[in-house]
Amino acid sequence: MSAVTPLLEGRGVTKRFGGLEAVKAVDFKVMPNEIVGLIGPNGSGKTTLFDCLSRVQAIDEGSVHFQGIDITRLKPHQVAHMGMSRTFQVIRVYRKLTLLENMQVSRQWRGENLWSQMRPSHKDVEERSRDLINFLRLEHLTNEPAGTLSGGQRRLLELGMALMPDPELILLDEAASGINPTLVEEIKDRIKTLNQEQGKAFLVVEHDMHFISDLCNRVYVLNYGEKLAEGTPAEVMENEAVIEAYFGS
Ligand code: ADP
Ligand code: MG
Repeated sequence: MSAVTPLLEGRGVTKRFGGLEAVKAVDFKVMPNEIVGLIGPNGSGKTTLFDCLSRVQAIDEGSVHFQGIDITRLKPHQVAHMGMSRTFQVIRVYRKLTLLENMQVSRQWRGENLWSQMRPSHKDVEERSRDLINFLRLEHLTNEPAGTLSGGQRRLLELGMALMPDPELILLDEAASGINPTLVEEIKDRIKTLNQEQGKAFLVVEHDMHFISDLCNRVYVLNYGEKLAEGTPAEVMENEAVIEAYFGS
């Protein structure tokens, strides 16, 4: 048994929509400093599991722990304060606001220490926004309305907005879907840098197996709401049941 407390741990997570069991008794872990992939055919429950783990959906059975703390009944903003950020499958940016403004209106710092008693000053928020925009190499677009960005640039902005509160764990739903290959490389590179230089952990849903195998230490595969396989990207791609789920009739 490992002595390290998982950053995020779901045990027996179950979610039903009426008669449909969208997620069935899934055990799930993200360890500190890990990049974990979540894959599976369309409708296999990836977004629903995401929603359960980030507390956007109430779960019917099971539990979710973050940094060893039971968060099963907490609200999404409380979990965000503890250091978990997420993006959504459908991109959520304010199209009429500029990049800088989008960053500035994103969630404030998380609150774990004395400083959190004080609201960060406008100047600090602006500085952090600009630093992140530079980090994402979007500085030439700082004052453009977000509505003018390409899909990939919007994904990058969304990553930046998720990073504003300085989270420990970032959950990305469809991180690279429908994005031009150059920006996919850019997103991958930024995620790797955040992981290697700042120790940030990621949970990534993505269809593109190259994206997943380039980034992830471990992968979970869902099928009809159930965990079909888990392992390294190479292991799951050789798994007969996984191949059957993806390519079988
Ligand atoms: P994925 O992200 O893997 O494509 P989802 O988690 O979006 O899958 O969906 C899993 C299953 O749950 C699908 O059958 C989907 O139709 C169903 N589902 C998802 N959200 C809802 C909802 N709010 N109400 C009813 N059914 C839903
Ligand atoms: Mg989905």
